[in-house]
Formats: sequence, C-alpha cells, structure tokens
Amino acid sequence: TLRIGVLELQGDFLEHEAMLKQCDGDILTIPVKGKQDLDNIDGLVIPGGESTTIGRLIEEFDMLETIQKRGSQGLPMFGTCAGCILLAKDIVGRPTQTRLGLMNITVDRNAYGPQTESFETQVYSPRFKEKPLRAVLIRAPTIVRVESGVQILACKGSEKEPILVQEGNWLASTFHPELTDDKRIHLHFLDIVKAYKSSK
Ligand code: GLN
Repeated sequence: TLRIGVLELQGDFLEHEAMLKQCDGDILTIPVKGKQDLDNIDGLVIPGGESTTIGRLIEEFDMLETIQKRGSQGLPMFGTCAGCILLAKDIVGRPTQTRLGLMNITVDRNAYGPQTESFETQVYSPRFKEKPLRAVLIRAPTIVRVESGVQILACKGSEKEPILVQEGNWLASTFHPELTDDKRIHLHFLDIVKAYKSSK
C-alpha cells in the first residue's frame, strides 16, 4: 500500500486527500502535522493555500529541515500553487520567505493579480495529450525561470508560461488539479511514488 503524506497545516489538503483516494482506493493518506509524521511515508503532497502561512507553520512545528532532508534523499513531492511556491528555490522579491527551496525554479507570487483575477483555462500538454488539462488558477504564481534538471510538462497558452514542472521526483503545478475531476496529474505523481518505492 502506498502511504501518501499530505501536509495538513493550512490550505486545501482535504481536496488532495479526496483526489488521491479517487485515484486508488487502496492508498493510505497520512496527515502530516509534525516531524514524526514524515517518518513512514512514500510521498508528500503540499497543498495550495497561503505559502507564507504554511511556511511559518512548517518552521513553528520544526519540520523544515526534516522535509528538506527527506526531499534531498529523493522523497517524491507534489506541490500545487502555494505548494509550488514552497518547493521553489527562488521567490521574486521575497528573499527571506521561508521555503523548502528544493526545486530549481523561480516563482513570482500572485503574478496574475488579486483573488478576483482567479480563472480557469484549458491547457495543452504534450505529456497529457488525450485532452487538454483544466487549469484552475487561484491567485496563482507564475514560474518565471526554470533551470537545469527541470522538465516542463505543461505551459499556459501562447505565453508559453510553464505551469507544470518536474525535477526528478518533485512535481509542481501553479494550478489546482485537486479542484477538478481530472486525475491525470495525481496519477502521474503516484507513478513517481511507485517507482521510488520499488527502487528503495
Ligand atoms: N497566493 C498564494 C501564495 O502566494 C497561493 C494561492 C494558492 O495556493 N491558490 O501563497
């Protein structure tokens, strides 16, 4: 059985847990609220929400180094929106914001404007080509730079902005697949987790 940790500090973790269950009824979702919860998981989901708040709570509960360490040992992680921001090495204009800083990407927070500028769009992805992805963007960041080792799995429209990227076992989207009924991104993450687990 796959044991998928879901960071339950703030944000839309319930939607991720529901989506994971829909992908595979045998999955165990493990609520991660403290360091000890990270011991026995095969992957970690970092939900959308408010990256400053989640980062602050990660520090307050003394989880930062443990998550970073598990990550650098190859633990698969999937961050959506705020989760993507937390995974990024660089955040435009926020040099001191707490982050995990694992992925070789730079993000620009709230780049599409305030909450009222949230929107949904169809995204074509060469990786998920059966049909376009439904990208729900809620006060989303943009990924303004990707560096070595990062694969771009989907871009938004003619702007060619990356909105779904992968670096090794880490996956990050600026949108929220957990708020749609499109399971493909979560299934892709579960494939990463399965490969990681069988290689251990
Ligand atoms: N705007 C939020 C942030 O900067 C992210 C929003 C989201 O996760 N939907 O953290």
